Amino acid sequence: TRKKLIAGNWKMNETIPEAVVLAQEISNLADPAALDAVDVAVCPPFVDLKPVKTVLEFDRVNIALGAQNVYWEPAGAFTGEISIPMIKEIGCTYCIVGHSERRNLFGETNEGVNLKARALIEAGIAPIVCVGESLSVRDEGVYLDFVTSQVRAAFAGMDAEDAVRAVVAYEPVWAIGTGRTATPEQAEEVCAAIRATLAELFGDDVAQQVRVLYGGSMNEGNAALLLVQPDIDGGLIGGAALKAVSFIEIVKAAR
Ligand code: 13P
Repeated sequence: TRKKLIAGNWKMNETIPEAVVLAQEISNLADPAALDAVDVAVCPPFVDLKPVKTVLEFDRVNIALGAQNVYWEPAGAFTGEISIPMIKEIGCTYCIVGHSERRNLFGETNEGVNLKARALIEAGIAPIVCVGESLSVRDEGVYLDFVTSQVRAAFAGMDAEDAVRAVVAYEPVWAIGTGRTATPEQAEEVCAAIRATLAELFGDDVAQQVRVLYGGSMNEGNAALLLVQPDIDGGLIGGAALKAVSFIEIVKAAR
């Protein structure tokens, strides 16, 4: 059975001092038994990665570190970008790729998402590949085709050995930051379709191992019912990940 993963996406929030405080609060509240049962990660902004890592290491707390984005080339003339060796050296074991905010606000394409996911896997970092439809795509009724084609594009050129190291996050755009979470049935339908697509591409063995997360207004009140769905293996948490108590309650709900 798949171990659940609860990952906090801090987005563009928290200066270094603020990030250190939040990491300390999360670390203090985290119950070691819960952290054995559930994989937990925090994904702060780039500048906060090292300070947050220092807190987690000092506290010897079993919480992993992830970045929110990365560039696929290892080094060179790419002003403003951050490389995989840079985040790896800090100790990131996860990296979000293709978040809808990056796709919609910063022009990220399926092709770029694929290059990033493959380069991360090559480097031993698990990509958290985000997919999800807008409200208009949902209303047109073509959301399963839309999301599964994002999955196909993100996993293009991978073999089973690569694919098994990825995580997928289904984040319907209409549920992100809106307080309008998908119902457990809506989220399960798409997460199951994502798993079926992975089975088609890489075989059932791989599909049964890859974790598929849900994200979009997940909080301590709605997490439990989402997390009991058979194809939902965890959560990618935005707003509620900025409140240590809420984040830890979601971790507890995943047990
Ligand atoms: P919210 O939890 O704030 O809706 O954000 C979800 C998200 O985008 C996580 O990546």
